Amino acid sequence: MSLKKVLITGAAGFLGSHLCDRFLKEGHIVIGMDNFITGDKKNIAQLQNNAKFSFINHDVTEFINIEGDLDYILHFASPASPIDYLKIPIQTLKVSSLGTHNLLGLAKAKKARLLIASTSEVYGDPLVHPQTEEYYGNVNTIGPRGVYDEAKRFQESITMAYHRFHGVETRIVRIFNTYGPRMRLNDGRVIPAFMGQALRGEDLTVFGDGMQTRSFCYVDDQIEGIYRLLLSDYSNPVNIGNPHEITIRDFAEEIIKLTGTNQKAIYKDLPINDPMQRQPDISLAKKLLSWEPKVGREEGMKLTFNYFKSLSENELYKSEH
Ligand code: NAD
Ligand code: UDP
Repeated sequence: MSLKKVLITGAAGFLGSHLCDRFLKEGHIVIGMDNFITGDKKNIAQLQNNAKFSFINHDVTEFINIEGDLDYILHFASPASPIDYLKIPIQTLKVSSLGTHNLLGLAKAKKARLLIASTSEVYGDPLVHPQTEEYYGNVNTIGPRGVYDEAKRFQESITMAYHRFHGVETRIVRIFNTYGPRMRLNDGRVIPAFMGQALRGEDLTVFGDGMQTRSFCYVDDQIEGIYRLLLSDYSNPVNIGNPHEITIRDFAEEIIKLTGTNQKAIYKDLPINDPMQRQPDISLAKKLLSWEPKVGREEGMKLTFNYFKSLSENELYKSEH
């Protein structure tokens, strides 16, 4: 690929910061954008002295002004953890609706290709298993998670409308639970939650009876899938995730073993509309992108635990965002 100029929103977040690293590693020029609502400066501290990286502190729901050309835009700004989007529901709705509208307008003006971060949450609490891209989903529009799920569904719709009506080049990735270094320890998602609890010597909080399932994808695999999708010529949604499924109950036991903690799993109420099963069907990504995940859960969890172990006491005991 020749040298490109790339705008990445959500650059100070977990996935956005890894995307910045990847595009810079490929030799491209990267502009990161973030308003730090759930992100952290330290995720992009390694890029501070990189001449090919610049950063704009901006809320993408406000008009976006970028000087000069742009080749690619990756829209990854959005709260992504249930406790974040329950705490900031209106911003969550706005970033994937108004924010996506702004970025589509920018892509149209610059004749840039736009990839949006969608999610397995568009399938809601799925009645089809595993989930293929053809499945329309089962979402409670007015439930507490609706602010995230419906904003992402709207995001897909407006993206396809700009593609069909204005001819904007667009890509849609439906990301399934992804984990790795730079997740926020206190973001409430199950992996940072369990690892933080193990490190603090607390019991691991399993929600419900723990029989709900998830399928966890290591960040490097996810980034590779997104990179390949961006370069493909396919504009309908594509699932990227790791199909290796596990119950949350068994997962807690795996984490107890991995961390060597003396604590046990304790059971708490299941959050409203928490999906009971989730596993991506990745046949399309395999065929289209010759992509499949390479990092197994055991290896990925070790790498992630090493990251959390390296954090300071201060960060380990920091209260919620
Ligand atoms: P994250 O919270 O670590 O990162 C999101 C970033 O977006 C943060 O840095 C935050 O400050 C920024 N942001 C939020 N609202 C903004 C706004 N209005 N203007 C500018 N910046 C804003 O979350 P993440 O896990 O890195 O998720 C990134 C994207 O991937 C999100 O769109 C999310 O919905 C999607 N996604 C992630 C997963 C996953 O498992 N990690 C799964 C499905 C979808
Ligand atoms: N979960 C849990 N204990 C926690 C945090 C989460 O049992 O401390 C459960 C949660 O109810 C869900 C699963 O783990 O069934 C994954 O939750 P997460 O917030 O990571 O992601 P999502 O629900 O968005 O897939």
